[in-house]
Amino acid sequence: MTSIWQTAALEAETPLSRRRFIQLAALSAAGLAAGCAVNPVTGQSQLMLVSEDQEIAIDRQNSPHQFSADYGVCQDAALNRYLQQTGQRLAAQTHRPRMPYRFNCVNATYANAYAFPGGSIAATRGILLTLDNEAELASLLGHELGHVNARHTAQQMTQGTLVQALVSGLSAVAGTQGQPAGQLAGQLGMLGAGALLASYSRDNEREADALGLRYMTAAGYGADGFVSLMDKLRAMNRHNPGAIELMFATHPMSDERYQTAVAQVRGPYAAARRQPVFRERYLDHTAGLRRMRGAIEAMQKADSLMAKKRYANAAHSLQAALRKAPDDYAALAMMAKCQMALHRPAEALRYAELARQAYPQEAQARYLAGFARLKQKQYEGALADFNAYARLLPGNPNTSFFQGLSLEGMQRRSEAARAYARYLKAGGRGDRAQYAYNRLVQWGYVKK
Ligand SMILES: [Zn+2]
Repeated sequence: MTSIWQTAALEAETPLSRRRFIQLAALSAAGLAAGCAVNPVTGQSQLMLVSEDQEIAIDRQNSPHQFSADYGVCQDAALNRYLQQTGQRLAAQTHRPRMPYRFNCVNATYANAYAFPGGSIAATRGILLTLDNEAELASLLGHELGHVNARHTAQQMTQGTLVQALVSGLSAVAGTQGQPAGQLAGQLGMLGAGALLASYSRDNEREADALGLRYMTAAGYGADGFVSLMDKLRAMNRHNPGAIELMFATHPMSDERYQTAVAQVRGPYAAARRQPVFRERYLDHTAGLRRMRGAIEAMQKADSLMAKKRYANAAHSLQAALRKAPDDYAALAMMAKCQMALHRPAEALRYAELARQAYPQEAQARYLAGFARLKQKQYEGALADFNAYARLLPGNPNTSFFQGLSLEGMQRRSEAARAYARYLKAGGRGDRAQYAYNRLVQWGYVKK
């Protein structure tokens, strides 16, 4: 089926711009555009205003920021290869086998897994530590593949439930809703992808479960792994609710979900219960994570405490984590944030610098260092940090604001004005935007 939307899609800039989103929202609200696409899972025609190319563009634009908010892809190359191999085995069984899937472990320690619409899928160290066999991992990745294959994000954009969140500006994407310490991340102006990840409906979950079970059994895994994964998540919710809060916020868990899984495994998938779960293989590949269980659990505790703004207690937990794992990038970066929240910028800078040395390719430490230097009026160093951050992780408009502040501190007014203008043009909002605008007026770049 062709439509005005499809012509418009061809002209759309990649990645999808904010302006395009606003136009999209207006079009769909006015009921002018009706693009139909065949749902790859149901085979039925459905209203779809987001093309596959755009799903991939949205993914490429957003997923690096979420990965960085989760302290980067973990540095254990063998573990990532293992996730990639397991993921690809499942991907081959999906309805969209040719999507550019990517499976990674991220350094965050709270338990979560998520998928972007173009196929970037991540699982945290925290959740991988909880699992006991490869069939459980396949269930977890299979569920995420279910969201990508049923095109749940694109569907929500089409229905307008996501468009609003995305066009309402930076506040919506700054910080991940419900993420431990998300509020702090928001204050720091770091980008997450809360709006993209925090909105699956119960129907979406039901469909992702059904697809996940189908994919993992088709890939040869024992169906019991699907139920034991759910058991683990539910147990974790009882014993350590803070650590799994975000996972349950993005993927609502219910008794009905659990009962359905049990009934499916005992019924239609009963034969697949004889397939292997690959316990040894999983334990071998994740041995490194289990060796640092103590440090990871201390970080989980710190995450929960930071979410409750109990920063002094969180710092204490992170101290314990760092005694066990002194070079852990996530622990060092979390400590830098904690010190910032405790108004100790010099300590924050020290930890941010250690984090940078531990993982030079990851951007967040540069941002934290820049922020800590700004607080100490070390403007030149701050500018260097924000410039380095922008090179490593382009696309965060807040960087322009902080580059502006650094330049202003160095009395480089015209460059500061250009940075503030860039920030406003990128859609900066709130107090920072007001500040930037006031400076431009004060300096005579904008007539009031
Ligand atoms: Zn889900």
